[in-house]
Amino acid sequence: MTYPDPTSRSAQLFARGRKVMPGGNSRTGVTLNPYPIYAVHGNGCRVTDADGCIRIDCINNWSSLIHGHGNQAVLAAIAEQSQHLLAVGMPTEVEIDLASLLCERLPGVEQIRFSNSGTEGVMMALRAARAYTGRDMIAKVEGAYHGSADSMEISVAPSPTQWGPAHTPSSVPATAGIPAKVQQDTLVLPFNDVEATSRLIEQHAGELAAVVIDPIVSRMGFVEATDAYLQRVRELTDALKIILVFDEVFSFRVGYHGVQGVTSVTPDLTALGKVIGGGLPVGATGGKAEIMEVFDQTKKPLRVEHGGTYNANPLTMAAGLACMKQMTPAAYDRLDRLGDRLRDGLRHHLEDHDLKGQVMGRGSLAGLVFSDKPFTDFRSLPLGPHEVRTVLSLHRFLLNHGVQIIPFGLMILSTAMTEDDIDEILEQVGAGMAEIRSSRRSDEH
Ligand code: PMP
Repeated sequence: MTYPDPTSRSAQLFARGRKVMPGGNSRTGVTLNPYPIYAVHGNGCRVTDADGCIRIDCINNWSSLIHGHGNQAVLAAIAEQSQHLLAVGMPTEVEIDLASLLCERLPGVEQIRFSNSGTEGVMMALRAARAYTGRDMIAKVEGAYHGSADSMEISVAPSPTQWGPAHTPSSVPATAGIPAKVQQDTLVLPFNDVEATSRLIEQHAGELAAVVIDPIVSRMGFVEATDAYLQRVRELTDALKIILVFDEVFSFRVGYHGVQGVTSVTPDLTALGKVIGGGLPVGATGGKAEIMEVFDQTKKPLRVEHGGTYNANPLTMAAGLACMKQMTPAAYDRLDRLGDRLRDGLRHHLEDHDLKGQVMGRGSLAGLVFSDKPFTDFRSLPLGPHEVRTVLSLHRFLLNHGVQIIPFGLMILSTAMTEDDIDEILEQVGAGMAEIRSSRRSDEH
């Protein structure tokens, strides 16, 4: 079956879904035009859709499935745990086990608490920073996504007419429903611009509770923070007693010690989610014990109330523990090699098909950008209509040739993949690029 097909089961499900849910489902990110493809089954690195088409999954639930689908150890842990407790109004030991594993691995995490989404992981980091510093303002990078908390739904993908000056970017709500007061309390930083960022942080020193940074920005084709940028932000936040928060919800999967294991600085707080839940809903906030103490409900008066009916539910904790235990240094090395194989192959294909482009990403993350113009921040992202059209054409070609990627050119790998799977992805990307090239030639004539 070729996508799109109005007679497909997915098209029918979408029509049915739209009657009871605005937009047909509950998640902006699964949107596809003219209809999203409905999934029914996953096995290893492949997903079967409602029409029986099987594709290699390079979305991996937007980074959360580091072992792909149906990982036996994770399923066994879920089955075993489900015999005892799903969720319960008491703490359980498995929560301590997962907390211990994460505290051991992450240099900036001495203590941690769990929640149910990356959004909550970030939100509780902001709350802790505000409680600890007694200040309200939060700084974030222009073009970065940090989940759905009001303070973070600012300047995620503003249009050029909304940008404001490069050295003092405007604070632009990314969605309707953000209170003006919250908008004013989010300071927007130009990524990788050391001077302008320093000036902004210094200007707002007395008001800033936290600076939030994802050092590998998925919404910007995996562009990375430079060492100089991170070091300067670390120096300033230390000197001005502002909390530096790393949002590793998406990017934690790049290494055994997370992103902070591959950068030259250690944050005060870290927000986590996705992979640490082994495929079940999860979020976490971790960091220096001195700051995390604000959550300590044994202290009177309690500084930050952190409730949540499903926080650290034993099913998620068991799945997360089984997932993370398999992520040994050797497992990360193997994923790195698969990632290198994919990135090298993508670069060769761009050359062979004489297409302008660059390949971003590290570890199990790869990003394909159809422009050779270097970029370092949101405003220099080469995402004009031509580049967007090209990446969407490739995405559509791949959908019809057994591979699903994130529509704007991101590919997320899993340990369920082998070198043969990577080669299959590459073969289809090569065929897709050949088609793009030949349709361009016929346009030119
Ligand atoms: N931070 C980053 C960097 C993310 O990519 C995401 C989700 N894609 C979030 C936070 C929010 O996580 P969740 O969707 O689990 O709320």
